[in-house]
Amino acid sequence: MGRKLLLEHIDVPGIESFEVYRKNGGYRSVEKALKTMSPQNVVEEVQASGLRGRGGAGFPTGMKWSFLAKPEGVPRYLLCNADESEPGTFKDRYLMEKIPHLLVEGMIVSSYALGCNQSYIYIRGEYMWVLEIVEKAIAEAYANGFLGKNILGSGYDLDLAIAPGGGAYICGEETALIESLEGKRGNPRIKPPFPAVKGLWGCPTVVNNVESIAAVVPIVNDGGAEYAKIGIGKSTGTKLISACGNLVKPGVYEIELGMTVEEFIYSDEWCGGIANGKKIKACVPGGSSVPILPANLITKTAEGVDRLMSYEGLAEGGFATGSMLGSGGFIVFDEDQCIVRNTWNFARFYAHESCGQCSPCREGTGWMEKVLRRLENGQGHMHDIDLLAEINKKIEGNTICPLGDAAAWPVAAAIRHFREEFEWHVTHPDEAVKRNFGIASN
Ligand code: NAD
Ligand code: SF4
Repeated sequence: MGRKLLLEHIDVPGIESFEVYRKNGGYRSVEKALKTMSPQNVVEEVQASGLRGRGGAGFPTGMKWSFLAKPEGVPRYLLCNADESEPGTFKDRYLMEKIPHLLVEGMIVSSYALGCNQSYIYIRGEYMWVLEIVEKAIAEAYANGFLGKNILGSGYDLDLAIAPGGGAYICGEETALIESLEGKRGNPRIKPPFPAVKGLWGCPTVVNNVESIAAVVPIVNDGGAEYAKIGIGKSTGTKLISACGNLVKPGVYEIELGMTVEEFIYSDEWCGGIANGKKIKACVPGGSSVPILPANLITKTAEGVDRLMSYEGLAEGGFATGSMLGSGGFIVFDEDQCIVRNTWNFARFYAHESCGQCSPCREGTGWMEKVLRRLENGQGHMHDIDLLAEINKKIEGNTICPLGDAAAWPVAAAIRHFREEFEWHVTHPDEAVKRNFGIASN
C-alpha cells in the first residue's frame, strides 16, 4: 500500500486522545525541534523536503516560509487554513476528525520555526463537530505542557486558538481568510502584498493548509532528505486524496506521489475500480476547480504514457490534454453521468460563492450558470456553447482572486472534451429534460 506518514496510526483505537497519540510517538517532533534545533534548522528541513502546499496551489512550503518578513518588534502569525470547501475535497476533515493531535503538533513545530507566539486554526463553519474535536486536542496539549508558556522548559511560548468560519467558500482564499479573522467580510485582497509581508492585522503571516502543516511532523522527525526520497521529481512525499463519485471504494487515501492513476482507480488496494461494473467516462482529479479529463486521458497521457498521481503527472499535456493535482479531490464519473449537468452544478456553486467584488467574476459566474441551466433544461441554442467559451475568456485572468479562474477552467475543459454532449442537449431537448428530472430548474 505504500508508506503512510500521516495516516499510519489512524486505526489505533483512541488515537484522537493525547494519551494514545503520545504512546504512539506523538509530539516527538516538538521535543526534537525545541530541544535540539534552531527555528532556522526547522525551516531548512522543510525546504530540503520539497513539500509543496497541499491546499491546491502546490507552492513550495519552505520557500513560502523563507519569504516571511521579520521586522524588529512586529509579531508574526501562522494561520492554518482548515476552511476546506472545494467540492470533492474532504481530506482535511478526515485528518482533523481522526488524528487531531497531528495538526496540533504540526502547528507547534511550524509556529516555532516561523517565530510565532500566537497561531490560529481557521476552520470551516460547516465543520462544527470537527472544531470540537480539535478544540479538545488543543486543551489536552495545553494541559500537558505542549502549548502555553515555556513549552517543555525551552523558553518558547505559544498560544493556539481556533476560529470558525461562517460558511463561505471564499474564506478559504488566504487573504479573505485573514479579513474574516479580523472580523470583517471575507473579501479577498489584491496580492501583492502577499501575507508573508502584510497579513493578519498588517503583520507578516504564513497561511498553510491542514495537510501541509501535518506533513511538517514527519519531516522534522525523519529529516527533510528522507521525506524527499518519497515521491517523484518535484512531487515529493505523500498526499491525501479524497476519492469520490462512482467508485467501488470511495474514501480518503494517503498515496506516495508518483503512483499511476491506473493503479489508484482500479487496484483493489485502492479505489477498487468503477462501481456496478460500469465504464469510466470522466475524472476531475483535483477538486472542482481543475479541468475535467475524458476517459482516454485519465490513465494515459495524450502520448500514451502512464499518467502519474503527481503535480507534473496530472498536469502533463497542459490544459489541452491534462489537468491538475489541485487539492486532491478526485471525482470519478461513470458512463451514465451527464457532463452538462455536472458542469452546470459546479457553475452554480461558483456563482453562489462569488464574493461579488470584481465584475467579471460576479457577472460572469452568474451568466455561465444561467446558460448552462438552459442547456441542461433543453432550452439552449447552439450559439450558447460558444457564448460560454466567450464568457470564460472574459473571466480568466481578469479577477482579484483565483475563484474566477476556478469557475472558468472547468467549463472550458468540459466544452473542449465533451462538446458533442453539449450539442446533443440542443438537438435532443426533450430527452435532455427527461434525463435531468427537472433538477436544473432549481
Ligand atoms: P497562489 O498560487 O496565489 O498562492 C500560493 C501560496 O503561495 C499563497 O500562500 C501565496 O501567498 C504564496 N505566494 C505565492 N507567490 C508568493 C510571493 N512572491 N511571495 C510570497 N508568497 C507567495 O494560490 P492560492 O490562492 O493560495 O490557492 C489557489 C488554490 O487553492 C487553487 O489551486 C485551488 O485548487 C485551491 N483551493 C483549495 C480549496 C480547498 O478546499 N482545499 C478551496 C478553494 C481553492
Ligand atoms: Fe470575489 Fe470572484 Fe473577484 Fe474573487 S474573483 S474577489 S470571489 S468577485
